[in-house]
Amino acid sequence: MPRLYRDVSVFMSNRIIILLGVPGSGKGTQAARLVNRLGYGHISTGELLRALEADPNADPADKKKLIAMRAGKLVADDLIYKLAFREIEKHLARGSGVVLDGAIRSVVQAESYQKFFEAKKLANEIIAIEIHISDETILARLRDRIKNQGQQRADDDPEIMKRRITEQGNAALKPILDYYRSLAALQVVDGELSMDEVETEIGSALRHASS
Ligand code: AMP
Repeated sequence: MPRLYRDVSVFMSNRIIILLGVPGSGKGTQAARLVNRLGYGHISTGELLRALEADPNADPADKKKLIAMRAGKLVADDLIYKLAFREIEKHLARGSGVVLDGAIRSVVQAESYQKFFEAKKLANEIIAIEIHISDETILARLRDRIKNQGQQRADDDPEIMKRRITEQGNAALKPILDYYRSLAALQVVDGELSMDEVETEIGSALRHASS
């Protein structure tokens, strides 16, 4: 077990870990590692939306809102809250924390999640961690993903990728980072490093926030 994770109790003051990063920043990988180490719930809104898309019994009105996802745009906030809050409630009810992975993509969403956590008296247990990569790295990584794994998702398409970078790239992320910085809840790690190094950096950020 990596040294930084030996004392899991250091994380206990942060039951809400918000991973922020542009597409291709490695949020999903790092979220999975954190969840594995800490036993927290993994809240990936992308995964929740894809599960909804694959569910033949899902509400057709909800499914209609997925057109935006296929076009590389953000999905309506009300659907995100419906899926994410229900999932978060489930994990909190069993006493575990949560790792939010791509679940917050605008300041409006950040504010709504903040209200949700405030109502649960969990506002001071929030830490937001940005895994930072440049816009050039985003494109290179998304292209690599398609080259190595083939087009696995409807939005893994060159034109849609460009739109995702415009709508969900560093420029779009900045106001969200500013929001968490204003709450003194933001840590930034270098997402250009190897996955293991990023994991170590995240461990340090969590320790730093808890000290
Ligand atoms: P991801 O798997 O995180 O890359 O997300 C895939 C797609 O799902 C995104 O390109 C958006 O269309 C949609 N999506 C995921 N999370 C959100 C969110 N919090 N708000 C709006 N749309 C989202």
